[in-house]
Amino acid sequence: MSQDEVIEVIKQSGLRGRGGAGFPTGKKWEFTKASKDSQKYVVCNADEGDPGAFMDRSILEGDPHCVLEAMAIAAYAIGANKGYIYVRAEYPIAVKRLKIAIRQAEDYGILGENIFDTDFNFDIEIRLGAGAFVCGEETALLESIEGKRGQPRVKPPYPAQSGLWGKPTLINNVETYANISQIILKGSEWFSSIGTETSKGTKVFALGGNVNNIGLVEVPMGTTLREIVYDIGGGIPNGRDFKAAQTGGPSGGCIPKEHLDTPIDYESLKQIGSMMGSGGLIVMDDTKCMVCLAKFYLEFTVSESCGKCTPCRIGTKRMLEILERLCAGEGSELDIYKLEKLAANIQKSSICGLGQSAPNPVISTLKYFREEFRQHAIQKECKALECKAMSKITINEEKCKGCGLCQKHCPVNAIEGTGREIRMINQDKCIKCGTCLTNCPFHAIGN
Ligand code: SF4
Repeated sequence: MSQDEVIEVIKQSGLRGRGGAGFPTGKKWEFTKASKDSQKYVVCNADEGDPGAFMDRSILEGDPHCVLEAMAIAAYAIGANKGYIYVRAEYPIAVKRLKIAIRQAEDYGILGENIFDTDFNFDIEIRLGAGAFVCGEETALLESIEGKRGQPRVKPPYPAQSGLWGKPTLINNVETYANISQIILKGSEWFSSIGTETSKGTKVFALGGNVNNIGLVEVPMGTTLREIVYDIGGGIPNGRDFKAAQTGGPSGGCIPKEHLDTPIDYESLKQIGSMMGSGGLIVMDDTKCMVCLAKFYLEFTVSESCGKCTPCRIGTKRMLEILERLCAGEGSELDIYKLEKLAANIQKSSICGLGQSAPNPVISTLKYFREEFRQHAIQKECKALECKAMSKITINEEKCKGCGLCQKHCPVNAIEGTGREIRMINQDKCIKCGTCLTNCPFHAIGN
């Protein structure tokens, strides 16, 4: 196949970047090929940083050759002779197997000089990332490969025009590359027959949280959240209700119960205020506090902000302080307004995707669970009992059957009563850990 034929197949397949943004892969290849330079690079982004996500790790550990092969195909298509895999140092098994795979490929003449007796040369080096979430952003990743501090560059120029050491550079993530050789082998029509109109192929999710079957799942694009949570995930443990699912990790948003039947693809998720992200999918049952959820993700982005630009460095910190106030029962209704205002400004004025998407978990929880925020701000109440400063756990006498399961699990012996007696909580001893809440089979515990 000629270079253009390879790019055409990838374009026709409809493959879009699996790292989060969903940019059409074939177009990216085309732009990089069109940049005229005698030196070009191909880079694999294996800096998987979303909390709870491990899709890329499993590919690198299970089949590193599929990534090497795809990088070689990409290098041939765009006219590059050098590749880098930027992988987290926290993935030692993946790194070890990648090194073995690169050596094997070189021994077989699949990487190196004059591949398959042609004048195509391509070799790959590994670069280890030191665990900074921002280095998953493509330009920060390039800075890090160059040996500099991992901070994003202002775009444009895009890496396709000016990437590593100012040369045209193609960057795709691990899962995107993992699709390439199958598309070349089976054809673009095979690939584009899977999925929806605008999102082709399959997507791997790291399913976690309050769901019976946790782990990696690969589903055709367009599968509904309900199918993932209930058919594949086996539903919610302890007979509890589904409350929401967070897709896209700290850059994404939550999907509430009313959108359980939304097909999961790039556009549908965006429409309901979430995003595909790289594939983290955390399920939450009805015992979870959505203000705490927003706080959790903000804590993450505040600590991972590289500090280059003010809205992200300081704005996210101010948002976190507001969320901390709300969770401590010290917030006000004005705080909700301030959160929204800050979120909008940070989205608009941050340099890179980390800052631009950092407010997403707050915006989406506010969109679907505003009443919960108001309860925290006005009534000083956390119905989910997660905000300990505002919680008092009690047992509903009408619902309690005296089974004693809560008592058995309470770590501080705060539950009183014997035999089939209705149980009572000793408020002086209770540490509000919520263990009784999750263990009561009759949902008799609340506040
Ligand atoms: Fe750094 Fe945040 Fe600005 Fe991105 S948005 S450049 S992470 S400070």
